[in-house]
Amino acid sequence: MEDCLFCKLVRGEIPATVVHETETTLAFRDISPKAPVHVLVIPKVHYANVAELAAADPALTGEVLAAAEAVASKEGVRESHRVVFNTGPAMGQTVFHVHAHVLGGGSTGFGAV
Ligand code: AMP
Ligand code: ZN
Repeated sequence: MEDCLFCKLVRGEIPATVVHETETTLAFRDISPKAPVHVLVIPKVHYANVAELAAADPALTGEVLAAAEAVASKEGVRESHRVVFNTGPAMGQTVFHVHAHVLGGGSTGFGAV
């Protein structure tokens, strides 16, 4: 996807603070953190949202979740964190390349659902 922000990030065309990388996934710090730990985990290939990803590639969906948990461990929030996929503008999705938010490390800015 030529104009997709996160595809550009995967290609190295825009900078990111990468915290974890696998053959198929990339995890980097959110540019505008909503919690002390706020990392985004994406598949390197483009899917618009988690529904498309899960339907097209269940194995890759699992790899994204496994990467999210590896990030939680690395960031010291393995025992207490939240993994969120926003799907659709009405639920707050602003970047249409699927990403898991890994949030943790404090209680400010993200209450219980
Ligand atoms: P969402 O609202 O669920 O689509 O999440 C998009 C997230 O991407 C937001 O939390 C933004 O702060 C974050 N974001 C936007 N641009 C960048 C960037 N260049 N690097 C890292 N995070 C970004
Ligand atoms: Zn993309």
